[in-house]
Amino acid sequence: MSNIKVFCRIRPLNQKETSLISYIIKEQTMQIGEQKFTFDRILDSNTTQQEVYDEIGKPIIDQILQGFNATLLMYGQTSSGKTYTMIGDQHQPGIIKRTINDLFDAIDSSPTECEFRIKISIVEVYKEKVKDLLDINKQDLKIREIANQGFYIQYVTQLWVSDKEEIYNALQKSLVNRQVGYTNLNDMSSRSHLLFQMTVTMNNEIEGTSYTGQLIMADLAGSENASKAGTTGIALQEGSFINRSLLTLSNVINGLSEKQQHVPFRESNLTKLLWNGLSKNSMTSLIITCSPCISNEPETLSTLRFGVRAKMIKTQPKVNKEVTIKELEILNNKLMKDLEERNYIIDQLKKDDNKVKIIKLEEQMLQLRKENQLLKEQNSQYITELDMRSLDYQEMQTNFKNSLLESDRLQQYNLNFQKQIEQLQQNKEIEIHDLNSQIENLKQQLQSKDEMIQQLSKHLAVFQKSQSQNAQLQLHEHYAEKLQNQNIADLLKEIDELKKKTFDDKNEIKQLSKVNESQILVFTKQINNQESEISNLQDQVKNYQLQLMKNNDELLNLMQSNKKLQKDLENRVMKVTELQEQYDYLLDQFNKLKNQLNYEEVGVYEENQKLHQQMQEINKKYLQEESLRRSNQLTSSQTLQAKLSRIQQLEQENYQLKLDIQNSQILSSQNNNNESVIVSQFKSANKGSMISKIVKKQQNQIDLQ
Ligand code: ADP
Ligand code: MG
Repeated sequence: MSNIKVFCRIRPLNQKETSLISYIIKEQTMQIGEQKFTFDRILDSNTTQQEVYDEIGKPIIDQILQGFNATLLMYGQTSSGKTYTMIGDQHQPGIIKRTINDLFDAIDSSPTECEFRIKISIVEVYKEKVKDLLDINKQDLKIREIANQGFYIQYVTQLWVSDKEEIYNALQKSLVNRQVGYTNLNDMSSRSHLLFQMTVTMNNEIEGTSYTGQLIMADLAGSENASKAGTTGIALQEGSFINRSLLTLSNVINGLSEKQQHVPFRESNLTKLLWNGLSKNSMTSLIITCSPCISNEPETLSTLRFGVRAKMIKTQPKVNKEVTIKELEILNNKLMKDLEERNYIIDQLKKDDNKVKIIKLEEQMLQLRKENQLLKEQNSQYITELDMRSLDYQEMQTNFKNSLLESDRLQQYNLNFQKQIEQLQQNKEIEIHDLNSQIENLKQQLQSKDEMIQQLSKHLAVFQKSQSQNAQLQLHEHYAEKLQNQNIADLLKEIDELKKKTFDDKNEIKQLSKVNESQILVFTKQINNQESEISNLQDQVKNYQLQLMKNNDELLNLMQSNKKLQKDLENRVMKVTELQEQYDYLLDQFNKLKNQLNYEEVGVYEENQKLHQQMQEINKKYLQEESLRRSNQLTSSQTLQAKLSRIQQLEQENYQLKLDIQNSQILSSQNNNNESVIVSQFKSANKGSMISKIVKKQQNQIDLQ
């Protein structure tokens, strides 16, 4: 199955046109607004006729010469470039002329044993009438159907040609004939379809083969007629402006692209003639031609849509090969020759049988030994590899175990460390707390000492004051008493004593205050000491805190490295599993090889026995071949006989057909001043006269030998 190839050609703006449709071409896709259309190739307005031919026409030549059918259709609105693409003008010929030119070049350079017969017919379908453009008298030809094979135009002129000039002339004549009877030329070309049909038959004298390739090129009516009919839905009438063939073609394309059960091929003459190209055995290409002018945008869009639908259609191209009697004879001869060769080989074998067999056996034995040796070597290689792998594997396993242990140790270490830190934190907190309370105590003690000192100073003052007051009072009282009771001498004595006592008291007080001062000094020193101790403790606390932070950092680092280790661990576990798999696989292979080796060793002996058996079988076969050869000789002569009777039968049929043709000739000559008629279905019976490699069949010459 192959898809219809669709090419889109855009012509340049003409002199009357000014504004372009805004479109973008990206490789195989054309975009207009939001709509995208993809084809096999887009040939923009700069593409030359030669480039179009190289892309589309050139491949057709090979297809035809290989015996395929090819169909090429031009579809697009009037004035979009269909005729220009297919026929072209004097300076820029279209695809037909270029294809014919190259086809004849190919024929000229083909081997001498190849013989070609070429015939063409050119018709026009207008308002459902099939008009023969090679014979102006045939204005309404009928299309006939051969069951399961397709349609043909009855009595259409088939011109046998021997060179390209003949085809060019015929084409020119057809284009002139096409205009006859039309008053409005534009109407004629936009509503009628032009079909150019060429059949090329190739016979190979040596191989006895016969291939037939048929080319149909169609320049279809303007597509605006189809969309008009499609959108208005007006009933079809013969002679109305609606083109039945084009409408049916649209329906057929829709039907084929949607893979509908019923495709309405029989509803128009054009679709009957294109039946082969659209649904059957043909390599088909469609060229949709588009105008780039803004005023033609709706038509261009509808043409593009038609192209997209057609792209979905699939055809089934196959080679048209006729089995000729000559080919059968050649085949038969070849078979006979083969048989003879075989017999010869069997004879030879029979003669040298034992020798050959012994040599063969020895060779086989040698071969088997070699293979065995090779297998053994392979095996030992595998074993070494396996050993190496298992060493690797063991190493990996130890590594893996070590890393597991390492990881456990690290985890434990981590945990301990964390505990230590926690303990340290707790201890420090307690210590700090204790220190704080000690400081508090010391402060309190200090305060109480201060208070005591103050108290003592107060007491001292009070004591000093009261002592002096007391002394004064006592002095006064004493003196008063003494004055009254004693004499002055006593008094003086007493005064001296008093003076002495006062002096002693003063000394005592001095000493006491000295003691007091030293005590205060001791206290102050003590306080100072305690204060420095407190600041030391505070420093210590700070240090602890710093260390705590450091520890925290370290802990974080440790946690990270722990994570890494865990990942590493996972990777290693994976690697170990992988290695285990590889190890298993290798072990498996190793076992298989071991088995194979065992098997091979046993096989060598078995092979020996088999070879003995084969020797016996060859003997048997020889006998069978011998009998087959005899029976083959019998059947091939029977087949030849059957073929000969078939030939006789065909000759009889030919004779009958000849009579029919003569009758129709008489009829047609009565109608058409003895013009000739060639009926397409007789092509296999026709044999023309040779002109170089081309066998030319004259129109008025029917050879029914
Ligand atoms: P259609 O057959 O589709 O009605 P034509 O082939 O007659 O259209 O083309 C209409 C006009 O446009 C003709 O004059 C033709 O020479 C010109 N034309 C069409 N395509 C091209 C092209 N690719 N390059 C130059 N001129 C073109
Ligand atoms: Mg045209």
